[in-house]
Amino acid sequence: MIHNPQIECMPREEMRKLQSERLIKTVKTCYEKVPFYKRKMDELGVKPEDIRSIDDISKLPFTTKYDLRDEYPFNLQAVPMTDVRRIHASSGTTGKPVVDTYTENDLKNWSEGVARVMAAGDIGPGDIVQVSYGYGLFTGGLGAHEGAAVRGAVQLPTSAGNTEKQIMLMQDFGSTALACTPSYAMRLAEAIHNSDVVSIDNMKLRAGFFGAEPWTEGMRHELEEKLHIKAYDIYGLTEMSGPGVGGECEYQDGTHLWEDMFYPEIINPDTLEPVAPGEFGELVFTSLCKEAMPILRYRTRDLTRLIYEPCRCGRTAVRMDRILGRSDDMLIIRGVNVFPSQIEACLTEFPAFQPYYFITVDRVSNEDTFDLDVELKLPYFSYAPEKQMPFLKPLYDRIVSMVGIKPNIHIQPPMAIERSIGKAKHVLDKRKFKD
Ligand code: ADP
Ligand code: ZN
Repeated sequence: MIHNPQIECMPREEMRKLQSERLIKTVKTCYEKVPFYKRKMDELGVKPEDIRSIDDISKLPFTTKYDLRDEYPFNLQAVPMTDVRRIHASSGTTGKPVVDTYTENDLKNWSEGVARVMAAGDIGPGDIVQVSYGYGLFTGGLGAHEGAAVRGAVQLPTSAGNTEKQIMLMQDFGSTALACTPSYAMRLAEAIHNSDVVSIDNMKLRAGFFGAEPWTEGMRHELEEKLHIKAYDIYGLTEMSGPGVGGECEYQDGTHLWEDMFYPEIINPDTLEPVAPGEFGELVFTSLCKEAMPILRYRTRDLTRLIYEPCRCGRTAVRMDRILGRSDDMLIIRGVNVFPSQIEACLTEFPAFQPYYFITVDRVSNEDTFDLDVELKLPYFSYAPEKQMPFLKPLYDRIVSMVGIKPNIHIQPPMAIERSIGKAKHVLDKRKFKD
């Protein structure tokens, strides 16, 4: 089902016109109301009048996470606090969190973006959407909550954690949709299957909206099978309001980006030049509707590519490929670039393994070490090396061929790897403490 056909299926020429109008307005506001943007544009010698259409976007300065930190908390705000209705902040792994503030309209647009994703999963009145993203400063909980509200669905704000109670309510209330991180969805699926109290056969789940961290096709299949649902990707970031910057349609073939609100570009992170259409690079967004904290050419550090071919669903909104990871999640091990999501992709090819893993990287005698903890599912698990070997060897070979380096794999007993209720932590890089 399409939530807003007029926008989601708008002819591309018309969309460019809309984007142009909105960009001109956004740039003018940024220049006049936010000293940071005036300074940056003056440095580049760009005036708001130089921006006459969306084609002029490359004249504008980039904004980075460091800029947001320097302008913490409210220096990038373009409206007085009397116009603001909400403040959110991302976890911010180091230092100060990233802050976003919202006017009434910003909140409306944000939930519209989420509603478009949920509509693709046919969510509407009568649906019970269990929101197991964390509620609080994190945008996941309230973002999914308000999106479900726009669809006229029942909001079930369980938040993240308290897993046993979650699955009980899921069954007793008859939740039809689940919104959470893919890691937590996996944890819930596992709890359901291990439970004596609930059974997936007594549940009414049919759709899952998973995001806030990278996940793979393998993980999708696993979740769809275990939870008896169709699993949709939902993408977003605090800097662009939160989840619902885009999402998958019923064809699950790329994540549509809501380009009327966020203009996407892909750049080469080294040269900062746009890549050729369809090539991989860093995703950059310019907000086209945000009032409280408009943002110009924000470098997300997310690595992906854009797909411009029309989608079978009829939406004209551009699609993006799965996010490989953030550039800061990329590990360089023995000179080879490794994304944790590649390990997940390998792992999920082998049904005997759980999709849980933990990578430990270290440097010993000037050489990088790459240790990988994985879990075998119950009937296959054994402490005996000769019983582990038939499972271990194919996984090892697959990782060597796909990633290009040799892992030191350790098979752990069931439940040994930590389960996450939010964004999973997959890596410990001990080299960081040695430099
Ligand atoms: P934090 O920076 O603290 O993680 P956010 O919740 O704002 O805070 O995180 C946004 C980031 O989460 C995105 O930039 C992206 O890296 C990741 N992300 C969000 N949704 C997805 C998704 N569907 N697939 C992959 N990565 C995602
Ligand atoms: Zn589509």
